[in-house]
Amino acid sequence: MGTCPTAIMPLPRDNFTGVLHHWARPEVLTCTSWGAPIIWDGTFDPHIAQQEARRRNLTIGLTVFAVGRYLEKYLEHFLVSAEQHFMVGQNVVYYVFTDRPEAVPYVALGQGRLLRAKPVQRERRWQDVSMARMPTLHEALGGQLGQEADFVFCLDVDQYFTGNFGPEVLADLVAQLHAWHYRWPRWLLPYERDKRSAAALSLSEGDFYYHAAVFGGSVAALLKLTAHCATGQQLDHKRGIEALWHDESHLNKFFWLNKPTKLLSPEFCWAEEIIWRREIHHPRLLWAPKEYTLVRN
Ligand code: UDP
Ligand code: MN
Repeated sequence: MGTCPTAIMPLPRDNFTGVLHHWARPEVLTCTSWGAPIIWDGTFDPHIAQQEARRRNLTIGLTVFAVGRYLEKYLEHFLVSAEQHFMVGQNVVYYVFTDRPEAVPYVALGQGRLLRAKPVQRERRWQDVSMARMPTLHEALGGQLGQEADFVFCLDVDQYFTGNFGPEVLADLVAQLHAWHYRWPRWLLPYERDKRSAAALSLSEGDFYYHAAVFGGSVAALLKLTAHCATGQQLDHKRGIEALWHDESHLNKFFWLNKPTKLLSPEFCWAEEIIWRREIHHPRLLWAPKEYTLVRN
């Protein structure tokens, strides 16, 4: 499992991971069939990535949506923990999309870090809030965010950082292995199966099941990703259908058609409710308790 098969597609070298220490984690898959690294704790040197990011004087965007009751419930913990663990020592710009910019909590930011609160409309259904992120992100990436950031990470707000989440995660197109599903056989993965949907994958399609709570990449790659997902959602809407897991279904379709150039192990977005697994050495982000009755309509 630990060795990297010959890449079948040449991947752009990102220089952030240095030489991956596949041998350090022989018990897990550290490379995809198309040659993209799957980074696990111990397989990369965080200092190499930090130096590379500093040398290039990068600015990294972090987008998060906090609409309706998600703002009070999750945003402060998310931001405070990000200040401790997300891209420490780098230039960071937070984009907080919310229906109440004036209610964004004050959080002391480190040097080289700033926060922009961006107003968005509040959709009635939580599914629509979740899906509306794709067109909103697309617009932002085509505007100020795309101009000031080199790489952008797009995260759910209902989670918090518990460990270093640094430039080792950077690459042109980054996907997160879903903590619930990374050990499941392909045919069981919860892809959209209705052929009428733009997000549909057949039983013989799909590489991994990716979590929409974390994705990232270069501005150019994310412009393409968000356009694909927003268009797919719109097509489905016109047909009066909605994919099983909303934006996540469309994201999975996109990653099937456009292979991510780096995958994050489930350590990068872990759920404490899952029974502890030996391969999970160092969780970087944890899902906050899901109190849907409190935050959803
Ligand atoms: N969200 C929000 N307000 C809502 C619904 C969703 O701000 O009413 C945002 C928030 O960032 C949240 C994300 O959309 O983390 C995805 O929704 P959720 O986390 O509820 O989906 P799940 O992770 O349970 O699939
Ligand atoms: Mn979530």
